[in-house]
Amino acid sequence: MHNLVLLLFNLGVLVLSALFLRECFRENEQRATKVAAAILIFFVVLVPVILWSPPLRFIPDIVVGLLICLALSLLIPARANREALAGTAGHLTGEVKRFDERDAVFARVRLSPDKEPYYRNYYAEHPDQEEADAQRRAKGLLGKLGSIDNSYQPLNAMIHAAFDIPDILGRSAKSSPVEGEERKRMDPVQATELVKQFGLHIGADMVGICKVNPLWVYSHRGEIHYGNYNEWGEPLDDFPAYAVVLLTEMNWDHVSAAPHSPSVAESANDYAKGAYLSTVMGRWFAHMGYRGIAQNTRNYDTVLVPLAVDAGLGEVGRQGYLIAPRFGARVRVFAALTDMELVPDKPVSLGIDEFCQRCKKCSDTCPSRSIPVGEKTITNGIRRWKLDEDSCFEYWSKIGTDCSICMAVCPFSRPDTFSHKLVRTMLERSLVARRWFPAVDNLIYGKRWRPKQVPSWLEYPKAKESGKETY
Ligand code: SF4
Ligand code: SF4
Repeated sequence: MHNLVLLLFNLGVLVLSALFLRECFRENEQRATKVAAAILIFFVVLVPVILWSPPLRFIPDIVVGLLICLALSLLIPARANREALAGTAGHLTGEVKRFDERDAVFARVRLSPDKEPYYRNYYAEHPDQEEADAQRRAKGLLGKLGSIDNSYQPLNAMIHAAFDIPDILGRSAKSSPVEGEERKRMDPVQATELVKQFGLHIGADMVGICKVNPLWVYSHRGEIHYGNYNEWGEPLDDFPAYAVVLLTEMNWDHVSAAPHSPSVAESANDYAKGAYLSTVMGRWFAHMGYRGIAQNTRNYDTVLVPLAVDAGLGEVGRQGYLIAPRFGARVRVFAALTDMELVPDKPVSLGIDEFCQRCKKCSDTCPSRSIPVGEKTITNGIRRWKLDEDSCFEYWSKIGTDCSICMAVCPFSRPDTFSHKLVRTMLERSLVARRWFPAVDNLIYGKRWRPKQVPSWLEYPKAKESGKETY
């Protein structure tokens, strides 16, 4: 009987290790593949020990005992993270001044000296930034596009082609009720279900709803895309009450090539998808007799990550990205604002905050050391890990892509396979998982980031080494 129990247990572990090995191999995780293979071999060796070697049977006894203890310890529930469950409100410590879009680096880079009097007025108030912004403007935010990969034209063309789409759709970002359409009043529960299903149908990978917290609406417009500089500095005070937040999953094959061009090609692809999703959703509200304001790369009235947190779509990680339940940091966030009454979702606790306290993989891997390794700090009344955007963008311009190493290296970003699903579920619920899994992850996958091999159609010419980091 004892032997039979040992054997069945061992066979169960063998099946799981074989599954894990297959996943690691498919994900091109070289170190994890070796670790999984070693585990598999170990449990294969235990089979003859159990069957034919009574003097050595204490070994499987100890192994099985340890695994049972480990499994039981994973059942100790984690306490609910009240900060996370309160959404963005859980991270506020005092007065928050609304962000001014004119201060965003993208807006400043577009504000060239020929944009008078806007240029003169802005730098009269921010003289300390003028020189650094001028240098950034001269280089371009991404420097020479794709320079890390010798600006490989097929990939650069994919990036330009995708970014053409938000350029085209951006002019239709703000939709008023369509003339002649009667305002359709719907039960908010029914409307919410319809909006969510519609969002998924048109191609979003996750949809959540929140009330728009005015703190996350920019105080003034700063990003000007169509020469409409008369809107520069316009106060943004009249905004709809609800946001339909739309997430798109970024493809793992592309992201895992970070910091090379396939990853920025996928960012561009998602910006194109997000422009379509948010515009269609906004237009749908307009045809229902409501305002519908698309939030995408050609029109931001709001800071989208806090909206996504309030809409229950994830938590914010150490590297500042939204970390969503199935996709981790591998997502892009878009939205449509509306005044149709909807039912907001509740924020979620996925164990990310606790995991990030110990993990630090993104900060250890970041080539420009832009992600804090220490505790959260308070900036503008918000407790968070504050990214050093200047050094991050400096690195972007050096390599000619949006880097994304911190997105790719994050353990939550791995594909939504059986083993990663299991780990994510445990992290949501188990105290021990939150404490120990960061170390286990390092043991299995290693701490260093290595870009993965891309499918042949995405291949790019390998360029020179950049400094010590041989990306
Ligand atoms: S994008 Fe790259 S440089 Fe910027 S914070 Fe992430 S890892 Fe660091
Ligand atoms: S890499 Fe680790 S520390 Fe960084 S965001 Fe992901 S889980 Fe958090």
